[in-house]
Amino acid sequence: MRIGIIGAGQLGRMLALAGYPLALQFRFLDSSADSPGAQVAPIVLGPFDDAASLRKLAGDVDLVTYEFENVPVSALHEVAESRPCFPPVDALRVSQDRLLEKELFGRLGIPTPPYRAVDSLADLRAAVAAIGLPSVLKTRRLGYDGRGQRYLRRRADVAAAWDALGGVPLILEGFVRFDREVSIVGARSTRGETRAYPIVANTHREGILRVTVAPVRDARLQRAAEDYLQRVLDHFGYAGVLTLEFFVAGRRLVANEMAPRVHNSGHWTIEGAVTSQFENHLRAILGLPLGDTRPLGHAAMVNFIGTMPERSQLLALPGVHYHDYGKAPRPGRKLGHCTVVATTAVARDATLRKVLRRVGA
Ligand code: AMP
Repeated sequence: MRIGIIGAGQLGRMLALAGYPLALQFRFLDSSADSPGAQVAPIVLGPFDDAASLRKLAGDVDLVTYEFENVPVSALHEVAESRPCFPPVDALRVSQDRLLEKELFGRLGIPTPPYRAVDSLADLRAAVAAIGLPSVLKTRRLGYDGRGQRYLRRRADVAAAWDALGGVPLILEGFVRFDREVSIVGARSTRGETRAYPIVANTHREGILRVTVAPVRDARLQRAAEDYLQRVLDHFGYAGVLTLEFFVAGRRLVANEMAPRVHNSGHWTIEGAVTSQFENHLRAILGLPLGDTRPLGHAAMVNFIGTMPERSQLLALPGVHYHDYGKAPRPGRKLGHCTVVATTAVARDATLRKVLRRVGA
């Protein structure tokens, strides 16, 4: 069985690495020959929106998945006509547009921050009047890792934010005074079986995920997160791994966004859970029984952003695993990560503090 993965970034590489024990083979589609996936499987070189490249990939594999959200929906529809393609194209379509995402959450009874669509400076002024300040102006499409966002703290920020982002469809969201950010990763198989991992706490800086701590033991939040995840999975008749990100405000979960793919906040599952998110994504799209999602103790994941820390210093710490994606260093770029696994939360936190000092985070 050969699986085609659109995108050959680190997520694609980790999918392939999880798939080899299951006797799966892989082909990637990517515009860059030296992307991380190239280390582990052949790449069809071409842009994601190039029909000929997509056809070439589809012609060479039994099933297609993606690790990257900015694949044009029209291109994926074409692939889906010739090969099974998971997660469903409609989930990708909704996840590409923050407005559609929030409208769907609303229809499914999942709380969101207050929001308004913004297409002009007049819309923005009206949205600020309705939602109030502080608020966050975001591009509806093609935003990730905090890109395409401006915080509005006072009225004087309105015109500058419009100048910076205006001209493309936008959304204004109320600023959520959150206690922390959590996410849930779960899988639904083509047979309808679902499993969810425990919720995890995520720390971002400049909009980029820095640290994930797993699990968060809070039975009430876990129940709510699993319930919301199930609603989204059922809505799409989903297959594969899906991630929902939330703000925790008081005792409430407020949904921020969804990702129809394996997720950075699930990397800890490689060493920290019985079955990794990558293996479960593959099991889900192949209609295999899903694997146990329980944690193997207490874990933390630290991203390496912009520079790689020295490997042996980290590996000398107890329970630390090191992942180098083999990417060229660039400011703000995710180059690798490490995972700490320990039997107690206290031991995990002690090692995490040492990791953070060595990583300089
Ligand atoms: P996003 O690209 O929407 O995931 O946003 C990146 C990060 O910006 C989030 O993880 C939050 O830390 C912060 N953020 C985004 N939207 C809001 C909001 N409405 N209220 C407060 N913080 C936000």
